[in-house]
Amino acid sequence: MVMQLKFLTPTYMVDSIYDLTVEELRNHGITTVLTDLDNTLLAWNNPDGTPELHQWLQDLKQGGIELIVISNNTNKRVAKAVDALNIDFVAWSLKPLPRGILAVMRQRHLQPQEVIMVGDQMLTDVWAAHLAGIRSVLVKRLIDSDMWQTWLNRSIETQAKKIIFKHNPNLKWEKTLRDN
Ligand SMILES: [Mg+2]
Repeated sequence: MVMQLKFLTPTYMVDSIYDLTVEELRNHGITTVLTDLDNTLLAWNNPDGTPELHQWLQDLKQGGIELIVISNNTNKRVAKAVDALNIDFVAWSLKPLPRGILAVMRQRHLQPQEVIMVGDQMLTDVWAAHLAGIRSVLVKRLIDSDMWQTWLNRSIETQAKKIIFKHNPNLKWEKTLRDN
């Protein structure tokens, strides 16, 4: 049996979520960006976000692209993080289960091809996107934290990446959404 790990293979790999411009999202037919919270949108050591984040949020708003946080964290934690930023969210989403993503798509009558999921972990964010039938963007962690909760996931991901890169030689870290 050939193990290709398609369910963990991101559609795109981009250095940072802030690299996704309105123009590029539009060119890919995307109206709604779903994003992981921790280490994707915000770093734990910088809860207020960087000027880069604030600029990006403003660009999306002006460009009419909707942003929604899909997090496995608790309601309290996610609300505390994003309320000041005025972003809708789903907490306790149990990624890799797709239910948080599917709930948002159902509520807003979104088609799979207009939604994209962005996150820093293949075992939660990319897998959940795959199960929901939407495209995914893997991003680099904003900071290399030593949170023990993610240590096991990261060890598995390191091994999974070796297999995935072998089967997808064109998949590389990019600055844009490059179709392979
Ligand atoms: Mg994360």
